Amino acid sequence: MTTTSFTTTKSEEIFSAALKLMPGGVSSPVRAFKSVGGQPIVFDRVKDAYIWDVDGNHYIDYVGTWGPAICGHAHPEVIAALHEALEKGTSFGAPSVLENVLASMVIDAVPSIEMVRFVNSGTEACMAVIRLMRAFTGRDKIIKFSGCYHGHADMLLVQAGSGVATLGLPDSPGVPQSATANTLTATYNDLEGVKAIFEANPNDIAGVILEPVVGNAGFIPPDAGFLEGLRLITKEYNSLLVFDEVMTGFRIAYGGAQEKFGVTPDLTTLGKVIGGGLPVGAYGGRKDIMSLVAPAGPMYQAGTLSGNPLAMTAGIKTLELLQKPGTYEYLAKITKKLSEGLLAIAKETGNPACGGYISAMFGMFFTGGPVHNYEDAKKSDLTKFSRFHRGMLERGIYLAPSQFEAGFTSLAHTDEDIDRTLAAAKEVMSSL
Ligand SMILES: *Cc1c(COP(=O)(O)O)cnc(C)c1O
Repeated sequence: MTTTSFTTTKSEEIFSAALKLMPGGVSSPVRAFKSVGGQPIVFDRVKDAYIWDVDGNHYIDYVGTWGPAICGHAHPEVIAALHEALEKGTSFGAPSVLENVLASMVIDAVPSIEMVRFVNSGTEACMAVIRLMRAFTGRDKIIKFSGCYHGHADMLLVQAGSGVATLGLPDSPGVPQSATANTLTATYNDLEGVKAIFEANPNDIAGVILEPVVGNAGFIPPDAGFLEGLRLITKEYNSLLVFDEVMTGFRIAYGGAQEKFGVTPDLTTLGKVIGGGLPVGAYGGRKDIMSLVAPAGPMYQAGTLSGNPLAMTAGIKTLELLQKPGTYEYLAKITKKLSEGLLAIAKETGNPACGGYISAMFGMFFTGGPVHNYEDAKKSDLTKFSRFHRGMLERGIYLAPSQFEAGFTSLAHTDEDIDRTLAAAKEVMSSL
């Protein structure tokens, strides 16, 4: 926990080698620490709420492998179930009862989902759901919100948050104009703006896709009435409402944001938590819409490893752990303590900040706020965030290496972990 003992020699060696082998040295951009500067630490192992790096430093982790680790890393019950599944083979490429088990759990939990299709990532789920929206409505245009990230498919790489926000790419080269020509961008929490887009395109919009609680532009909750308003507008124009709950599903409530806010979309995408740390995504929704998906219907979508027994097993065990009584109360309790603690320290130390939390998801922007959308979020003091991030890292606290990412807690985080985190934050924020 002391800064004097913090050395990262081995991390630096490994990352320097990685830079010659892989673009930017990483398998996914945000991991490279580009937006906070300095080099990333290289992990050796993870357990519960903790990370050990290759130099032997350990950290309290608030990234949780970007969401899946809601029960804590390497939960013994998940690992034991995986060991057992492993002995029976890693991939069948054929039906297995495990798919039925996880599908039933998802259908029981998520209000909008009557049928579900498993895929291998959140990106894949969002890509497929757009195709399905278009297939069902016979319309091509979709509305997304600036700052919302729905994976890296061409038509969704418009004003996307997450790594795209961090790298400051408004778009990506290689995405043809034609791929995004039917993607209309609105401002999050601006219902009037969405109405105007519908009025201008009354018969052309297949649907609206959004993060019901934004996590990929930092943590931004929906204003009262925003989700309800979208539900009404989409109904009025015979258009579909899609919640991308890849991040929020089974995290901000067992049934996701749609349970929490009582607004039921037509279709939902899932990922992260439902894979329990293995690669899984899913999309699901109304039976009449899902019946269009091949081979039940004509909309083609497939996957060699989709529904594989290892991923299904990790997902099933993770959801079983989340079903235990008191789970979400615990997550809310520790996250409240962390979030309110951080904001109080910011205030005490004279650092303008705003933020909040819902269940096991939180965020803090270095701006007085309020933050209702991505434009507001961009007013954050990014230099200050970088210094805060570095100071916390040196004190054994691993935060997402970007101001435009939400933070995650898990069932493995203890009261003492939060105390240690707040003590570190007090030291760091006093010296910003
Ligand atoms: C992470 C994320 C995705 C993409 O999922 P991958 O598994 O990284 O492809 C899509 N939508 C949201 C809301 C996400 O948070």
